[in-house]
Amino acid sequence: MTTDVTIVAVDGPAGSGKSSVSKQAARTLGYGYLDTGAAYRALAWHVLERGADTADADAVQAAARDFPYAISLDPDDYWVRVGQTDVTAAIREPRVSDAVSAVARVPAVRAQVNDLFRALAAASDRPGVIIEGRDITTVVAPDAPVRVLLTAAPQVRAARRAAEVSDQDAEAVAAALHRRDASDSAVVDFLSAAPGVEVVDSTDLDFAQTVDAVLHVIRQKLEARDGR
Ligand code: C5P
Repeated sequence: MTTDVTIVAVDGPAGSGKSSVSKQAARTLGYGYLDTGAAYRALAWHVLERGADTADADAVQAAARDFPYAISLDPDDYWVRVGQTDVTAAIREPRVSDAVSAVARVPAVRAQVNDLFRALAAASDRPGVIIEGRDITTVVAPDAPVRVLLTAAPQVRAARRAAEVSDQDAEAVAAALHRRDASDSAVVDFLSAAPGVEVVDSTDLDFAQTVDAVLHVIRQKLEARDGR
């Protein structure tokens, strides 16, 4: 990726805290924040809206060709739109979470959204962008000066996710998260760090400590890059 915008790549499984941690780290640094999972979720929502089958790769590709997707990179004003519809809340619904892995499995879709992510980050008017997802450190921005894998023990991730969606049954939330991890990890390996990727394990850290740990890695890597 050739750009003057400093890219910080953050990968991790569901419930690792990568979205909220990346957003807060971006705020602290004055960086943009790009949630790549939102693109896959918005596409899954779009396929469902068309009444198409998310398990049908041809139908998913057809939907992806006509996908007027927009996302905010401002960590203080986060929104996701498909056409005129604000889907920020709708893409978090269980029906979308359950459908998203099938959509994300289609290689042509991945290539299309990866190009979009690179273009969105490069066009940012901020000095840097934190891009978070599953394959950012390995596929979307393997040359990024800072690459982090944020992990946490499976039971901690399930408990965090259940607390976020307290209106849903905790066991059902945990089961859905593990199901999604299993199908996602067949497509990209986000459970082990690629060479050069720093691991931050948040199992025993609270939110503020995790943000600090990630900021520490970012500052260290950028100082090394800038020869300070
Ligand atoms: O991060 P989040 O849980 O919102 O991601 C939703 C889904 O999008 C994941 O379960 C995965 O299927 C897909 N995804 C992906 N690659 C990324 C980000 C998300 O395949 N970089």
